Amino acid sequence: MVAEPTVPAASLRERLDEVREKIATVTRRCGREPKEVTLVAVSKTHPVEVVREAFALGATDFGENRIQEAETKIPALGMQAARWHLIGHLQANKARRAVRLFDIVHTLDSVSLAHRLDRSCAEEDRNELSVLIQVDLAGEETKSGVAASGLTEFAGIVNQCARLRCQGLMILPPYFEDAEQVRPFFRRLRELRDELQAAGHFGEHRGELSMGMSHDFEVAIEEGATIVRVGTAIFGERIP
Ligand SMILES: *Cc1c(COP(=O)(O)O)cnc(C)c1O
Repeated sequence: MVAEPTVPAASLRERLDEVREKIATVTRRCGREPKEVTLVAVSKTHPVEVVREAFALGATDFGENRIQEAETKIPALGMQAARWHLIGHLQANKARRAVRLFDIVHTLDSVSLAHRLDRSCAEEDRNELSVLIQVDLAGEETKSGVAASGLTEFAGIVNQCARLRCQGLMILPPYFEDAEQVRPFFRRLRELRDELQAAGHFGEHRGELSMGMSHDFEVAIEEGATIVRVGTAIFGERIP
């Protein structure tokens, strides 16, 4: 006999509401407004029907990490219907496909990719593409990102790309069970954002901070996140 689950699985609506409430609570607690934080629903691996359901529940921003998967899912819901965020590593040879699909790329991490994206925008007749610079603060070999020491120079190069709009920074910090251990990474990213902003690298833009995932988005918001990327807490566990 199969045991009945004691706690019924929360519905998508309940989980989404719960995440939204947490965002509202934390922002207010630190004297910020909930609308200052964009919730990106990370829909990677989940089928189009589930994305559509989240869209019907008012989700406006979705995160995908693979071009091939995005090419089947984004056109199904409609590129104009939502704001699509590329949050996974992008190979330069897929830049043009990314430019066709996404509103914003969170993972700009090399000069060659910047140039490829800029050129792809021209080829696709796209006047601008929002980008965030992925920063690597831990020096992890397995993760991409620009080191803090090279950030100013890198931002300068991105800003010379006519069609790229450099709007902020993104981090994928090392995983810690205890979200408190991630806090120094979030804090450091905010300092770097402030420095770049003071130097005029984000133009008129406020300088986004894309940081915080399901298990640590509240800490990230406390440290100034303007974009949180939340998957599991909204959609449940991913099937690998
Ligand atoms: C998958 C992913 C997320 C979401 O992770 P969860 O722990 O499911 O919230 C956020 N950011 C990036 C870059 C991801 O790849």
